[in-house]
Amino acid sequence: MAGGAVPTVEETARLLREAPLFELGRAADDLRRSIHPDGAVGYIVDRNINYTNICVCGCSFCAFYRDRSSPDAYVLPEDALSRKIEETLSLGGTQVLLQGGLHPEWGVDEAERIVRAVKRHPVRLHGFSPPEIWHFADRSGMSVGDVIARLVAAGLDSIPGGGAEILDDMVRARISPRKIGWEQWASVMREAHRQGLRTSATMMFGSIETPEAISRHLLRVRELQEETGGFASFIPWAFQSGNTALSADPAFMEGAAAGFGHAAGYLRVLAVSRLLLPNIRTVQVSWVTMGAKVAQLGLFFGGNDFGSTMIEENVVASAGVSFRMSEEEIVATIRDAGFLPVKREGLPC
Ligand code: SF4
Repeated sequence: MAGGAVPTVEETARLLREAPLFELGRAADDLRRSIHPDGAVGYIVDRNINYTNICVCGCSFCAFYRDRSSPDAYVLPEDALSRKIEETLSLGGTQVLLQGGLHPEWGVDEAERIVRAVKRHPVRLHGFSPPEIWHFADRSGMSVGDVIARLVAAGLDSIPGGGAEILDDMVRARISPRKIGWEQWASVMREAHRQGLRTSATMMFGSIETPEAISRHLLRVRELQEETGGFASFIPWAFQSGNTALSADPAFMEGAAAGFGHAAGYLRVLAVSRLLLPNIRTVQVSWVTMGAKVAQLGLFFGGNDFGSTMIEENVVASAGVSFRMSEEEIVATIRDAGFLPVKREGLPC
């Protein structure tokens, strides 16, 4: 990479393909150290609550969604929602991550109702990824800006970066053809940042994308951050193929994604993410998909946040992956690697 200049797609893809892994790690670690010289590694005690698994989108990488007629389709009743939040608070939790499928009958009224139900409790609400916000706007005949304003007025605190997968429409056409394109995803984030909300950005890699597509994703997030400054963190995580339609796709089976889904590939993408996004302070490791040990290694490949205790997690678990970590284990794992665990109450500063 030329010093100081924004790297090109080709330069970034070359790093992903060819750079020696430990050189990438050292460079990412140097950058992490310059942004966080105190060695602090954040984490949060929170819970993922999925308000419905009914979804009209049918993404081929998703093992979580159900058709409405499916025997295990659900919409979470409010009393069950309240019980989950009370349990979260009793375990020292401070935040709820609320996400769900694109329910055919859910517009802004339903979304606002569930925000109010959550905010009857003293808890932060990180909720509704850009595809959900877009869906509510579409169903209700409103603008994205008006939907966000209604949800913020009801108590929404921040927005998760889900639904980004890979911000490249050729990849999206293959794995999530009914989901919003990358420009719509970016437009929801731009509007949220304009209204003063902070958000995360995510990337799901290791499906059928090329290193060039990962590079475009990183550069698009970097550019949007340059424009708005609203991303508090970046969370790259590896596709989990269990129980998904995509696992039978020939492009996936042929290994078109250059094998980034295993531990070394994950660390490579994590390090390149840190290097490509110097304007986002926090890069989060993913113990939920990679396990505690690889996540711990990730702290030497650019990561400075361990994410959430995930008192409950359903989406990755639907793909047959069920790593679990208590708060004590997260703290011990961070400490054992020589870092300083810092509990946060919402998005990273
Ligand atoms: S990833 Fe989200 S939008 Fe896609 S099918 Fe699953 S629940 Fe629906």
